[in-house]
Amino acid sequence: MFKNILLAFDGSEHARKAAGLAADLARQYQARLCVVHAYDPIPDYLGEPFLQETISRRTEAADRIMEQALVLVGEQPQLETDVLEGPAAEAILRVAEVRQVDLIVMGTRGLGQLSGLLLGSQSQKVLSHARCPVLLVR
Ligand code: ATP
Ligand code: MG
Repeated sequence: MFKNILLAFDGSEHARKAAGLAADLARQYQARLCVVHAYDPIPDYLGEPFLQETISRRTEAADRIMEQALVLVGEQPQLETDVLEGPAAEAILRVAEVRQVDLIVMGTRGLGQLSGLLLGSQSQKVLSHARCPVLLVR
């Protein structure tokens, strides 16, 4: 039933659980799994050399988070990765459109400090605007 699954991964505990579930579903349905990680937007008022340094630091940290995701999802029939500039919800929704995914899997919460929240702001935004089913994992 699902042919194109998107996993949104920020390295949090909830996202790690989401990774396990997305990986299982992708194997079950022989679906393509696309893992998305967005890094914080880089302000354009930063001049050189700070701009280049900041870009390298953020993209390297983002690549490390993507590597963690790839370990968690393991062997997959088809695997794609997208590391792109945030905000996260916009990035996730953009990839969902471009890649025409039919399921988004993400955590209810992420790395944010407000542990009392039931739903993080990024999962709330994706849930509100996505045009496909969204599976929120706790
Ligand atoms: P907030 O960010 O509003 O302070 P939070 O961090 O607890 O709260 P969210 O950011 O909404 O909650 O995280 C919910 C889920 O969204 C995560 O489990 C993950 O699946 C996804 N997500 C969050 N940030 C990113 C990101 N930068 N890249 C990819 N996916 C993300
Ligand atoms: Mg967050």
